[in-house]
Amino acid sequence: TKVTELPHIVFLTSPGMGHLIPFAELATRLACHHGFSATFLTFTNFSSPRQSNFLATLHPNISTVYLPFIPLDDIPNNAHLVTILGTLFTRSVPHVRDALVSLKQRTRLAAFVPDLFGSNLLPVAKELSVPHYIFFSCNCMVLLFFFHFPSLHTTTTCEYRDLPEPFHLPGCLPLPGKDFIEPVMDRKSDTYSWTLQVMRGHTSAQGILVNSFETLEPGASKALQNEEEKHPPIYLVGPLIRSGLDEADELGCVEWLDQQPNCSVLFVSFGSGGTLSMKQTTELAFGLEASGHRFLWVVRCPNDSDKSATYFNVESPDDPQNYLPESFVNRNKNKGMVVPSWAPQVKVLSHKATGGFLSHCGWNSTLESVGHGVPLIAWPLYAEQRMNALMLVDGAGIAVRPVALEDGVVERGEVARIVCELMDGERGKVARCKVKELQEAGISALSPEGPSHLALTKVANQWKVAIN
Ligand code: UDP
Repeated sequence: TKVTELPHIVFLTSPGMGHLIPFAELATRLACHHGFSATFLTFTNFSSPRQSNFLATLHPNISTVYLPFIPLDDIPNNAHLVTILGTLFTRSVPHVRDALVSLKQRTRLAAFVPDLFGSNLLPVAKELSVPHYIFFSCNCMVLLFFFHFPSLHTTTTCEYRDLPEPFHLPGCLPLPGKDFIEPVMDRKSDTYSWTLQVMRGHTSAQGILVNSFETLEPGASKALQNEEEKHPPIYLVGPLIRSGLDEADELGCVEWLDQQPNCSVLFVSFGSGGTLSMKQTTELAFGLEASGHRFLWVVRCPNDSDKSATYFNVESPDDPQNYLPESFVNRNKNKGMVVPSWAPQVKVLSHKATGGFLSHCGWNSTLESVGHGVPLIAWPLYAEQRMNALMLVDGAGIAVRPVALEDGVVERGEVARIVCELMDGERGKVARCKVKELQEAGISALSPEGPSHLALTKVANQWKVAIN
């Protein structure tokens, strides 16, 4: 079949590798197993060489179209990520409409699938009679939060951190207000209104694909099914993670890991944008050293005010020796490897020397850790990461969590304690067993008869029927 005759899906993702990566995996599965071709609509704003290189290496039936540049000069430089993304998506409406009209003429357009920030664009597809679904690249618990939060908004007036009782989402652990997704923590902010709008927009999807699987979230996934009449149909299609084979490894992480004993190295990374304060960077450095365990640490230039400082710009050019404690790198060169800004994460997690992952609990990182049977230290920073951490520690039981001081800093002694706890303590042992069970469950969810494979097949068939 010629590419132009294949049913075609249009994806729209927010800038940022964390958004792009699971979409690429979904698109690849649809191309390889279900006979689709696809276009990625991508923003010219914030596009990075890492992102364009990544898009260029996808399956030949997946192409990229750049949307015209959107002026954002009126948005303050230090505006919140959600405000920037909300504005970017809203201003792109006419461009997305043009792109869909043109693709509709040129391809057998079967569906438009934006990420969660694109929920406001669903009406554009509806207007053009294009089936419109969301790919929700977080978990079921966060999706339930999206559905239930708008009513909490109307029945409460206080800031959520002051709620006297935790929020009870069906099928989930009680959720204290302080662990809500971080963009709703200030009710008066623009970010709050954008978030609420994004959440409400989800009800206009014809279906929502979620990057999770039943065994990882039994209670939450059942709750989504039980209340299905209240929202669009939900399809659990995860865990969609990369194979990692094509990851570049310029700094030789794998070669270094090859020389370490099995299961001995703690991988430390805060995703594509996570950034620590200067004080926290220093405490983490001394703590890792004091733990006596081996580590592979992806370091970023500290930032005292913004925990997602490098989100749009992961290429931080700084030399880590400028901000790590004096002679830290040298002192630890036998036991520790320090990599500035970016590491081939999937290659690292799949390496036999890796025995633990200190992570910001971004959902892709979480799934990649589960997918390779690596237990975690939960170190949430922003976005929905505190909710993920709660679920991983108290729900799935595959992570341990350090105790922070009142000002949020985790001191060196606590870092050392939690690293030892994970790498050779009792709780680490339990977490390691559980994560291996989940690893197996994830593999079987995606196997030919597995529920996630069947769910994606069901959606794919609906899309095909719609264009015939
Ligand atoms: N990633 C990577 N190397 C790095 C940092 C991140 O390959 O040094 C990848 C990681 O494997 C994951 C994605 O970038 O697939 C980050 O997504 P996640 O949802 O964990 O966090 P986010 O970056 O969105 O906060």
